Parts: sequence; C-alpha cells; structure tokens
Amino acid sequence: MSVRVRFAPSPTGPLHIGGLRTALYNYLLAKQKGGAFILRIEDTDQNRYVEGAEEYIQRALAWAGIPPDESPEHHGSFGPYRQSERLSVYSEYVTQLLEQGKAYYAFDSAEDLEKERQKATENKGHFSYGCHTRMNMRNSLTLEKTAVAQLLEEGVPYVVRFKMEADRILTISDEVRQAVTVNTNTLDDKVLFKSDGMPTYHLANVVDDHLMEITDVIRGEEWLPSLPLHFLLYEAFGWEPPKFAHLPLILKPNGKGKLSKRDGEAGGFPVYPLTWSGIKGFKEEGYLPASLLNFLALLGWSNKTDEEVLDLQEMIDSFSMDGIQKAGARFDVEKLRWFNQQHLQKMDDNALIEQCIIGAPKLQDVPYDRLKKALVFVKERLIFPADLDTEHGYFFNAPGVYDESAVAKQWKEETAELLEGFMALAQTTSFEESALEGRLKEYVSSRELGIGKVMAPLRIALVGSLKGPSVYSLMTFLGKNETAERIKRAIAQLKP
Ligand code: GLU
Repeated sequence: MSVRVRFAPSPTGPLHIGGLRTALYNYLLAKQKGGAFILRIEDTDQNRYVEGAEEYIQRALAWAGIPPDESPEHHGSFGPYRQSERLSVYSEYVTQLLEQGKAYYAFDSAEDLEKERQKATENKGHFSYGCHTRMNMRNSLTLEKTAVAQLLEEGVPYVVRFKMEADRILTISDEVRQAVTVNTNTLDDKVLFKSDGMPTYHLANVVDDHLMEITDVIRGEEWLPSLPLHFLLYEAFGWEPPKFAHLPLILKPNGKGKLSKRDGEAGGFPVYPLTWSGIKGFKEEGYLPASLLNFLALLGWSNKTDEEVLDLQEMIDSFSMDGIQKAGARFDVEKLRWFNQQHLQKMDDNALIEQCIIGAPKLQDVPYDRLKKALVFVKERLIFPADLDTEHGYFFNAPGVYDESAVAKQWKEETAELLEGFMALAQTTSFEESALEGRLKEYVSSRELGIGKVMAPLRIALVGSLKGPSVYSLMTFLGKNETAERIKRAIAQLKP
C-alpha cells in the first residue's frame, strides 16, 4: 500500500512554526516513499474559524516549497478536502455507532453539566462524563427508549457521546514513543457529534483519515491525549488503524515550556512563516525557505550524520521516523540565522542577487556587475539577503555617518595630512590591491609609523566604521575617483 499522509490544520489562525514542521515531516515521508501528501482543512468548529487562515496556510506551504498533492485546491480522488464540505459523510458513521451501542445520545443541558462540575469541585474532585457517572445523567442509557424517541422528535438539543469501555489497559504503539499505555477508566465519554449536524474533531478526524486511506498520522504531541480515543474509534468501526507518530514539542529559547507567539515578540524573531496581522513572518525577515525547512527538520529529528546543511532533496532521502526524538526541541534563533547564512552561501550569484534585491529594493539601482563584484567580498558574511545593503551598503554609497567611537579612537590631528599624503602616492599606482598594499607599506615605513595610523582612518573614510573587507580590495572596488572623493569628504567632516 502506498504511503498517504496528511496535514490537517484547523483554520483558527496563522500557521505556527510547529505546524509547519508537522507539515514538513509529513511531506518528507510522503516524498521519500513515493506517496501522497494531503492537506485537509479541519473546519468543523465554526466558533474558532478565522477568516483568511486557510488561504494563509496554503500560501505558507507554497512559499516553503512543500505543496500538497491533494488539497481543497488540488483535488485527488478523496475529496472534498474541507471538512465543512463533508458533513453528510459523518452522520452515517455516528448512526452506526449508536446502533451498535458504542455511542449514546446525551441530553444534559449546559446547566446540568455545570451543576455536576460544581458538586465535584465541592467534594474536591473533578467531574468527568464517563463510566463512573454516565448512569446518573440524562442520556439514552438511562432514559426509556420512548422518552429518547420523544426528545429527538421534539428537537431537544443533544450530543452523541462515545461509550468508553471500563477496566481495559490499552497499549498503543507510537512511532516516536514506542508504546503508550493507558487505563480506559481514566478516559471520559467524548462528544462525537452534535444535534446541529456538526461532528467534533475526534469523529471527523478518524472518519476522514480512514476514508482518505491515510497510512501514517504524524502530528504534534498535543494530540497524544486523543490517541486512545482515536484508536478505540478505529476498533469500534472495525477499521485497521494507521501508524501514529506524535512529534516532540518545540520549546522556548530557554528550553522551558512550549514556544509561543509571545516568545517571538520578546526575542525579536518570527514564529509564523509569512506576515500575519502586521506581525512579520520568516519570509519578510529575510529567511530562505531552504534554511527554515533545514532548521525545522533538525528541530526534533536527527539524520544521524554530522552534516547539518541539507537541501530538501537531501532531507527527503535521509528522513526516517526512527530519527525523531521524544524530548522537546529548543528553538534557537541563532542556529536558524546560521542556517540562513549557510544556504545563502550555497546559492549561485544570480539567484542570490535576486534575493538581495527582494530584501533591499534600492539595490535595483546598482549596476549588476557591481553587485556581483561586491558579493565576492561579503557573500560568506551575509546572514540575510538585505545585509548586502544594510551592512555592506558602503560598496555602493559613500558613508552618510561615521561611527563615533571609531572616529574618537582613530582620527587624530595628523590624520588628514597622512591620508592626503598617502592618496597622492596611491594615485600614481594602477590601483590594484597588491600595488596599493606596497605603496601603503612604503609610505608608513618612510614616515616611521605603524600601519594602523593610516589604515584605520582610511577605513573610516571609505566605510564609515572599522568593519568591511580588506582596505586594498575596497579601494580597488571603488576606484581612484570614488576613493579620493570619500577621503576628501571624511577630512571635511571629521575633526579630531
Ligand atoms: N485539526 C487538528 C489540528 O488543528 C489536527 C490534529 C491531527 O493531525 O490529528 O492540529
């Protein structure tokens, strides 16, 4: 049987970084096995529906480069792929469970349930609708058949609950956690269906996974508590369950607790792939999809080699479920920046320049060959494509401001005269790096000076600070006129 996996988000907001990792692992397994990656939108909870969220999820997957093979936009033979369009499917399965006595109608009102909860709290307990309490409640197990029929006839609101069996020790295998063991006495009778015709997550999820012939359910750890119920639903329907894998949590940068949107705000890093309601996404911050995917893949999975920088195909080839760890994985934004730097370096110059222009549109005005030449010096240092402008704009524009502390330390009484003297000498060379280096060395030794006396202020004049590539390379890049101009400007503006 070919592998069929699904990513099944609820459109309740933007796709979180954890959701993108879940989608990625599903994608990697599907592609490695020549199977199908399915996007199913779980939108049966109308109260939590957020306009634009589904479209956002689809755009985010497309940007990341892991598009689904089957989705609401690309139908396969298992559609519809939006649960709100599948409502007619679910009632048939609820009826089946009701007829077999595996589920029952419950007519308890919200007030009845609240009363039970309060009673339990007063007794320092916790109310759970299940094997210990269901026979005291208002449901089709306690009411006469005729009474049930009448309530249904009258249209009294109800829910259908799963009749959890008592006293059973369940051991379910999970690809990440090996075995998960639970006593069914600790589980409640979950609601499967409501009288408004809406299934709950549990029912719709299991029915759809079965009907869509899903072979592997790979999802976040927060769904682990639902595993026993899902497993028992498969059993109740007489269906073969898929394999299950619950992925480790993504933890805050300090390793304590689950990563949240607020951590991103506090730490100044994104948690969404794309901008959402004014909050910048990874894309807008200048992260490449390749780096983000690489980082996410290794956040909870190890390819068991030392090679960390992987492209999508390499991840597909080396992915394996047994490389997924159980323990939560710490979100380390520094590591992500490092991946971005590594992936930028692997790009060819044309593609990289395209990214640089997207990141800093004003680079569009710089001639292409100048951009390409500048990359020779700084390609390895770029963390984001826009850095070519924000960090290394001195290649294309004279400095507007000069780093104050550098000036305070390096700009002396004699600096102007020294720079002018050196420039006069440099003008007579070919302005090639080695010639410039030779002239500068000659110049400082003839005056019995340390080389820094000229080199540092020269750098300040050309760059505006003490950073940048070799001063000789930069002078060659800028050429005689521009170098002379920048020195003149600095002399005019800077005072010791
Ligand atoms: N709709 C659930 C979610 O929002 C799906 C969980 C699952 O994959 O079973 O994550």
